[in-house]
Amino acid sequence: MNLAPNRLGQPAASAEAILEALFHPTGVDGVYGRSGAYEAVVEGLATLINRARDPRAEIVRFPPVVSRALIEKSGYLKSFPHLLGCVCALGGGDAAIGAAVERFETGGPWTDGLEASDLVLAPAACYPVYPLAARRGPIPRDGLIFDVASDCFRREPSRDLDRLQSFRMREFVFIGAPEAATDFRDTWKARAGDFAASLGLSSRIDPASDPFFGRGGAMVGRFQVEQALKFELMVPVRSAETPTACMSFNCHRDHFGQTWGLTSDDGATAHTACVAFGIDRLAAALFAAHGVDSDRWPTSVRAALNL
Ligand code: AMP
Ligand code: ZN
Repeated sequence: MNLAPNRLGQPAASAEAILEALFHPTGVDGVYGRSGAYEAVVEGLATLINRARDPRAEIVRFPPVVSRALIEKSGYLKSFPHLLGCVCALGGGDAAIGAAVERFETGGPWTDGLEASDLVLAPAACYPVYPLAARRGPIPRDGLIFDVASDCFRREPSRDLDRLQSFRMREFVFIGAPEAATDFRDTWKARAGDFAASLGLSSRIDPASDPFFGRGGAMVGRFQVEQALKFELMVPVRSAETPTACMSFNCHRDHFGQTWGLTSDDGATAHTACVAFGIDRLAAALFAAHGVDSDRWPTSVRAALNL
């Protein structure tokens, strides 16, 4: 690539052109059907990420829903209530359910018959892995590594190609000693630029914070930046001037260790870290960089993605 270091390349294809060529609208902002050409890139990314996986990693694939109790206990409800999607279903027994349907059929409201279920939509892929690991007992000396993935939901409707409500996330997660958790995160942070470059993507790493809810939340976000707990791989999707976070590199310190009682053999609370690949954003970044027709992408990029 002919890019000066740290100079991000302007997209070759506009977000509108990518949406038009590769996505099928569903009538809901941020929720799309995806074409075969787009999914071939998504599959190529999955294979490339498989190759980068630590041989010690245990693979777990989670469904797009998680237990509501798990999300409450994890602190997600407190930190990101504005993003959470909850599964509701008609309740109150057959008579009440039938009445709700009748109201609908006669043009009235039916959603007032909904009751919250014990499920929420998965907001990130890694949440269920911490209690899973805790159930197995003490964390071994070298720590544990997981490769997790799920379809994720965040209630942030938008018409932007890079801000979906329903999107896919792949993560590598480390659970173990504090320094090892930071090393794991930092190793991936250092590798990510090469990963992007192997796909012909220009990128940079920025310090980042999560979108915590409310005024108190803004303070937590500032603390996160001060403590260097989160970084993101920024890649142009809509423009080089406002690049998009396509991966994140996160240290949670002892948050999940405390929450789930993750301890090492000697009783110390484990630290955790995760590296998240925003699969749909990476795919969008590829189409933005190389154009909507993947048959015409550079040979090296096609080879890296097995296209
Ligand atoms: P986070 O847990 O916020 O660090 O998210 C991990 C990765 O998921 C981000 O770096 C993005 O690549 C991706 N992601 C987060 N939110 C969205 C969204 N609304 N639409 C598409 N991808 C997203
Ligand atoms: Zn995570």
